[in-house]
Amino acid sequence: MDPRMSSFALSCLFLVIASMTQARSQHVRDPHSFARPEAVVTHLALDIEVDFDKHVISGAATLTLRLDPKATEVHLDTRDLNIHKVTLLPEKSAPKWTLGEEVKFLGRELTIAVTPKTTSIVVEYSTSPSAAALQWLEPLQTAGKKKPFLFTQSQAILARTWVPCQDGPGVRMTYSARVKTRPDLLAVMSASNPVSRSSDGVYTFDMKQPIPSYLLALAVGDIAFRPVGKRSGVYAEHALVDTSAWELGDTEKMIEAAEALYGPYRWDRYDIIVLPPSFPFGGMENPRLTFATPTILAGDRSLVSLVAHELAHSWSGNLVTNATWSDFWLNEGFTSYLENRIMEALYGRPYAEMLASLALQDLQNTLKDLGPTHPDTRLKIDLTGRDPDEGVSDVAYNKGALFLRHCEETVGRARWDAYVRSYFDSHAFTSMTTEGFVADLRNRLVAGNADLEGRLQIDAWVYGPGLPESIPAIASSEFAAVEKEAAQWTSGIPAVQLSTKGWTTHHWLHFLRKLPATLSVDRMKELDGAFAFTRSGNSEILTAWLQRSIEMGYAQAYGALEHFLTGQGRRKFLKPLYTAMTKSPDGMQMAKRIYAKARPGYHSVSYNTIDDILKWDVK
Ligand SMILES: [Zn+2]
Repeated sequence: MDPRMSSFALSCLFLVIASMTQARSQHVRDPHSFARPEAVVTHLALDIEVDFDKHVISGAATLTLRLDPKATEVHLDTRDLNIHKVTLLPEKSAPKWTLGEEVKFLGRELTIAVTPKTTSIVVEYSTSPSAAALQWLEPLQTAGKKKPFLFTQSQAILARTWVPCQDGPGVRMTYSARVKTRPDLLAVMSASNPVSRSSDGVYTFDMKQPIPSYLLALAVGDIAFRPVGKRSGVYAEHALVDTSAWELGDTEKMIEAAEALYGPYRWDRYDIIVLPPSFPFGGMENPRLTFATPTILAGDRSLVSLVAHELAHSWSGNLVTNATWSDFWLNEGFTSYLENRIMEALYGRPYAEMLASLALQDLQNTLKDLGPTHPDTRLKIDLTGRDPDEGVSDVAYNKGALFLRHCEETVGRARWDAYVRSYFDSHAFTSMTTEGFVADLRNRLVAGNADLEGRLQIDAWVYGPGLPESIPAIASSEFAAVEKEAAQWTSGIPAVQLSTKGWTTHHWLHFLRKLPATLSVDRMKELDGAFAFTRSGNSEILTAWLQRSIEMGYAQAYGALEHFLTGQGRRKFLKPLYTAMTKSPDGMQMAKRIYAKARPGYHSVSYNTIDDILKWDVK
């Protein structure tokens, strides 16, 4: 038997089973959750208080359950939570419950005995001051400098550090919440949100669409709101809200472009909160309320592809969700592909090709670093026993997007777009495994066409390491012009005479990448004199320049380097800069000196990564 046929047949069988069981229970064992399919949480009602003095959230989580008739226990994920009391409803009785041994990354399993009558359980609890999902900022760490700030980051498996729940992407629940905080602060969540402060510091929230736990999100601070479109707006600290609203002014146009491609936006409103600088990611696609880093505020709307990315997650990720973190490329590869299509719809093909070209360069660098046969260069990767957050590289994003572009180019855009749209429609509000997607693709796009199957090379792309031979050709005319200028400078034309008028962030990034590998300090100085890179307010350009400055020993940029590393905590920028410093003994010394100062201001997602890079001794 043709092995491909056998896997195809198995996948079909899997799909049938999956569609039969989808509405009932989890159908895939998630190695990062203690939850089991016989007792599943379908709704969460949170009633919590945020204590800025103690750095603790405390209250109750009422979890509505769907129990199989034979279920006798419910299994929840917790990590660093203090469990005070558990009550069964409607019995109002106290069940037997146990907290298991601590497991690395996963925390402790909370097992609660239930009866056939049980419909929900109430867990009274409080968080630890060091809860990994929570970042408590002192007033001085905010833009306004007067009031504290709290934000959460639940992805990948950190929701369990602030809410007892079934913390795997294969379980979906609706939620409601009542949050009490200081009356001088505003609270917002990944749900229906207030637009102004309440007088008593109490806010209520509702999320009617079922979501996985990693999309639970809360932010509390001196936050104001500005509308930017009929169903979109921007939240930020008072000091940043007008700047943010201007920078994100194209949001409504993006939603319309995305809807034209992939069908209706199903989450009612789309708002964005611009967080204080220690937010570890560029953005987090919390439904209805994207969390974003202030490092996208470049002053010229040149970094808003990040919003296109987070918005695209409203389809890929939030609507059709990776079943386990090993299927993460389904979330991120699709989203990176959609992001590029939205950018093309708004700003044209030449602009989008610059983004695609930079993404391909990043991917090629990652593949070079990991090596061509490294298992993590596959789209579907095995994360059993690993922290899913550490298994993440741009393979999921950029190789994933490249595969989908390859599909588009192989079958033609019209046919491909129709397929993607119907994929979202038919799997909305469910989770998807890699095998499930591949089966769907074969079922509805390939449909037995052997020639098409041969050209798509699905298995090589999804399950094979590195890149297959036939990768899409990405041709950026804009970058060809940039390369010409870089070559001119290399051949001796002074930097001030280069034609750089109208260059965007992406032109500059490409220019910096196309310079010779080694540059003298004098040559660095000449570039800096002409283009003021060290003083750049654009975080992407600044990072590329600072990385090069470290590599070339251009000490004039070190002041800016320290300022940048202590002023924001976005992991994407921290990682290459600290890594570059580890390459020499002097650099390492500088890295450790700066890190000692900066680390208290970083989120755990960031300092866990940098601790590793610097082999930091955590006392
Ligand atoms: Zn993403």
